[in-house]
Amino acid sequence: MSDKDTLVQRCGGSCELCGANTPLEIYPLPDSPNQQEVEMMLCSTCLTQLSPGTELDSNHWRCLNESMWSTVPAVQVLAWRLLKRLSNETWAQDLLDMLYLDEEMQAWAEAGASNDDDAVVHRDCNGAVLQAGDSVVIIKDLNVKGTSFVAKRGTAVRNIALTDNPEHIEGRVNGTRIVILTCFVKKS
Ligand SMILES: [Zn+2]
Repeated sequence: MSDKDTLVQRCGGSCELCGANTPLEIYPLPDSPNQQEVEMMLCSTCLTQLSPGTELDSNHWRCLNESMWSTVPAVQVLAWRLLKRLSNETWAQDLLDMLYLDEEMQAWAEAGASNDDDAVVHRDCNGAVLQAGDSVVIIKDLNVKGTSFVAKRGTAVRNIALTDNPEHIEGRVNGTRIVILTCFVKKS
């Protein structure tokens, strides 16, 4: 059986990202160092969206809700990359929070993340560099904008996300996703 036959059988005639039953093409996932199975079957809508410089249509990508649980590593990695690009949308960030990749897949996923993000460095109150997924402790009672609660000093915030603004991180406090100033947190 050729590679293509294997792929056709695996996808069952449906786009591996959005499930469309339209004609499919093989898509090799770029930025896949040392990976064996990087190909997947995608529909023309997904392929158009994936071409460089194309703005993502967030409505189309709600399909990642399902495809991020694919058993195909390359599909999961691509889902992660797309969710990352869409992570200013709450639903995408929520999915990203749920999508757990093992270390190797995480590295694979990040190999394709845009390099622009690297330019922004987030530092805590002591100047320690913060990275997505870090845990921090809030060092001062903070009134949370748009809510009635106070994020108390000493509150641990796990699995933070970085934003484009080097002074802002995001994390969940009291079950709500909030923006926190980096100068009020300490890496733990
Ligand atoms: Zn598709």
